[in-house]
Amino acid sequence: MEPVTEAELIRAFCEEAEHVVLPDLNGLPWPEMDYLGWVHPSGRLGYLALVSPETGALTGSVLNRSGMRSTRPRLEMCSWCRHVHNRNGTAMFSVSVKGTRGRHRLGQVLCKDLDCSLRLRNLIEPRSYMGETLYLEARVWRMQMSIHRWLRKANRL
Ligand SMILES: [Zn+2]
Repeated sequence: MEPVTEAELIRAFCEEAEHVVLPDLNGLPWPEMDYLGWVHPSGRLGYLALVSPETGALTGSVLNRSGMRSTRPRLEMCSWCRHVHNRNGTAMFSVSVKGTRGRHRLGQVLCKDLDCSLRLRNLIEPRSYMGETLYLEARVWRMQMSIHRWLRKANRL
């Protein structure tokens, strides 16, 4: 994605801006990122900013985040990048459907740090527990479709 500024981010989160703790935008690997995702220091919220394929505008969504800690090894797969984690690599993220005042939420199990773009490109160790032979462009496309489908259902695209 193209680099974004703090001012653009604040605008993207407009209504929810008071809940947003901005990330450090310096030194991010923008060319390898399909979206900007980060987690609140408390771990209870996640943030997602991406360019809407429908309007071309940067849109922001605040996500509720809950850990799914397990003491036993358990394979967990991210719904976006399909990275398979061995243990405690995922979290449940939910987004409120716009217009329902938070009464209706849609949840997904995702990489706990929202770093799917980098995992997809094998830039973070450890690699997926289950390797995929699908080429990178197809995996990126599949992930974008998953993100768009989720946000569209929540009226947030
Ligand atoms: Zn992921």
